[in-house]
Amino acid sequence: VNSAQAIQCLRSVGALLENGHFEYTTQNKHGREYVDKDMLFRYPAKVLEFGKELAIRISNCFHRQGEALPLIVVGASPGGAILAQWVAYHLRLSGGAKQDAMALFVEKTGTEGFQLRPAYVELVKGQSVIVVEDIINAGWSAAGIVHTVERAGGHPRIVASIWNRGSVLAHKVGVRHLVSLVEEKMEAYTPGPDGRGCPMCVAGVPLNTDRGHGGKR
Ligand SMILES: [Zn+2]
Repeated sequence: VNSAQAIQCLRSVGALLENGHFEYTTQNKHGREYVDKDMLFRYPAKVLEFGKELAIRISNCFHRQGEALPLIVVGASPGGAILAQWVAYHLRLSGGAKQDAMALFVEKTGTEGFQLRPAYVELVKGQSVIVVEDIINAGWSAAGIVHTVERAGGHPRIVASIWNRGSVLAHKVGVRHLVSLVEEKMEAYTPGPDGRGCPMCVAGVPLNTDRGHGGKR
């Protein structure tokens, strides 16, 4: 699965909306494109392909470094948790892991970020961990998961995502390695009070109201 194939796959399941006027949840920015990842998670056969490709890239990264492949994968519920299942499955099947890998999840807590349930805290303590994230926007969510694993005494080694929309770098989310199937940056605009700064605002294109914030702020 190369970048173009991954984009085509997202488009084919209705997860990539183009030529619109979307208000993103992060930093009040606007853009023409929107990734609705829930549309992807309707199709396990597609998620499986993404999980497999990520597992291969993660394995290659650790093999190149001559380091042991972590056998714990953590993603944020719901999307990241689904992806974590397939990545963990394929670490052994396609990535050459010698044992089965575990897929754990973190849950959102109000505005505080994420939490691991107590039984999971015991599992990650002292262990190397792979963090998966479906779509990386500004990287706050990935950084939050990494931080949550660290607080539990785990060692996040890599972040793996389907799409790194914001050209976020590994160190910004607190790890040494970041792999993504799609690196293509999505243009985001910051509209001023009069709409200047966003070409769609200037052109008077109405905001999409069924995806993103859509003016509901
Ligand atoms: Zn706009």
